[in-house]
Amino acid sequence: MKHILVVNGLEAPMLRQFGCDCGRCASLERQANTSVSLLGVNGRDEAAYHILVDVGAGVVDSLIANPYLHAHRARLDALLLTHWHPDHTVDLNRLCVSHHLTRGRRGLPTPRIPLWCRAGTAAWLQREHGYEWNAFLQLEAPAENEPPGTLLPSLTLPVPGLRVTPITVSHFGADRAPDDSDGVQYSCAAFVVETRTSKTVLLWDIDSENEWLVAPEGEGQETAVSLLSHADYLFIDTAFWRAKEHRATHPSFDNVQRIAANLRPRHTLLMHLSGHPDGEGNPGYGWTNEQWTAAAQHVWTAKGLPGTVRVPTIGEEFLLGECDDSPHTDF
Ligand SMILES: [Zn+2]
Ligand SMILES: [Zn+2]
Ligand SMILES: [Zn+2]
Repeated sequence: MKHILVVNGLEAPMLRQFGCDCGRCASLERQANTSVSLLGVNGRDEAAYHILVDVGAGVVDSLIANPYLHAHRARLDALLLTHWHPDHTVDLNRLCVSHHLTRGRRGLPTPRIPLWCRAGTAAWLQREHGYEWNAFLQLEAPAENEPPGTLLPSLTLPVPGLRVTPITVSHFGADRAPDDSDGVQYSCAAFVVETRTSKTVLLWDIDSENEWLVAPEGEGQETAVSLLSHADYLFIDTAFWRAKEHRATHPSFDNVQRIAANLRPRHTLLMHLSGHPDGEGNPGYGWTNEQWTAAAQHVWTAKGLPGTVRVPTIGEEFLLGECDDSPHTDF
């Protein structure tokens, strides 16, 4: 069995904007919100397991177009959510209901989908996605409100040779309770995906204040940074080209450079992109993925940053490792 990662989407909220004439919106390339699938692929190119990370707009269409999940090959063994924001959850209804219906038509059991998300996000799902929560999802995560930079227990996945470990991050637009009570409810997580031969970091929807990624303090943050370091692939949130002077709900490319300089991945993949947050007339505005890649590579070379940098494409496949075994159960 091969362990692979497939990119389902890499857009920020809104995708292309209705009425916008910028270069990114004018391009008719398919778009979907930031999401990846972790897949085990057997010798017949069938999915032996499928773990989906985030399910924003357009993600279900990416799954349908994925050759390993196409038509009767469809399967979904677990859903991981970085957090509750709509650009990470808006396709939840379509995912849950269509998965349930198609399995039913094929005469297969229709158990609830095991879900991992932080307690803060679970509270939002119960309010915003009560229908899916009550009928289709099974939360499998401890209640906690750990501060940013905390390693949480690795997920229980019956997949040999695959370990997924969540690490808490701050994303202040999401770090609040749905009843708007005072106080911070940390709701967002990054994931470290390890096989026997590779490490992949999924680090998106982090605000610009996750300074612990660059300068960890104390044993907990140092352990988290050490697990995030020296990845083969770092998929990272890149909302703004221009450095921000004050705190922002997403990192700028300047933050990305500092984080990559400290974490030293082999390959940096830019995610959660948009043509809009920098504002009309500024660099970054209306940029296509090709323009983001060219501009990022120019900086990477000029500053001698570690490894490579680029924007991946929807449907692109990354090999994470191979092993002789198949999953221990059929989930
Ligand atoms: Zn636009
Ligand atoms: Zn987002
Ligand atoms: Zn968000």
